[in-house]
Amino acid sequence: MTKMFPQIFLVMGPPGTGKTTQAQTLAQNLGSPHLNTGDLLYYAAQGNDPAAQDIKKAMEKGEMVDEKITEQLVEKYLYEHENSEHIVVDGFPRTLEQAQMIKFPITKIFYLKVGDVTVKERLSKRERHDDTPELIEKRLKVYHEETEPILDFYRQKGILEEIDGDRTVEEVARDIEKKASSS
Ligand code: AMP
Repeated sequence: MTKMFPQIFLVMGPPGTGKTTQAQTLAQNLGSPHLNTGDLLYYAAQGNDPAAQDIKKAMEKGEMVDEKITEQLVEKYLYEHENSEHIVVDGFPRTLEQAQMIKFPITKIFYLKVGDVTVKERLSKRERHDDTPELIEKRLKVYHEETEPILDFYRQKGILEEIDGDRTVEEVARDIEKKASSS
């Protein structure tokens, strides 16, 4: 029997675009698991082992967590859910290297397009400890430099869906749902 892979949907976009909310909604509608990479790393950072300390340090500085650690945790999650029909992932991949290492076939990427000004406005309203103006700037810079190159990688594969993220949460969610169900 041929092995069936889950349909994997990635939700991408700059920080503060509501990608986690959108990924959650899509997962709920599909009845599928939702992997929030930031949360996964946050929980992994709670331990006392050296890897936990490394994760914590990177997150506190607004920097990327070590590739190997992140990849291992994400892979583990995907394998644990490999019998699901779908999996919705947000926050991964964040670099071209991460995009190239995913062993599971990706069905579609929903890229939430939102300008920097909106991002800064939205993030300054959140109350997360890593949402200070300096860290917001840093995360945006990291995003432009390291995450944006992934878009071309997926565009070339013909699986990138650009979504106008400058609309209401409901409008964006409806758009994503429609495009996911036609996959
Ligand atoms: P987020 O909740 O997606 O904004 O992620 C919060 C923090 O988690 C980021 O600033 C990074 O330090 C870390 N992080 C999340 N996803 C990744 C990833 N794919 N690779 C490396 N670090 C990540």
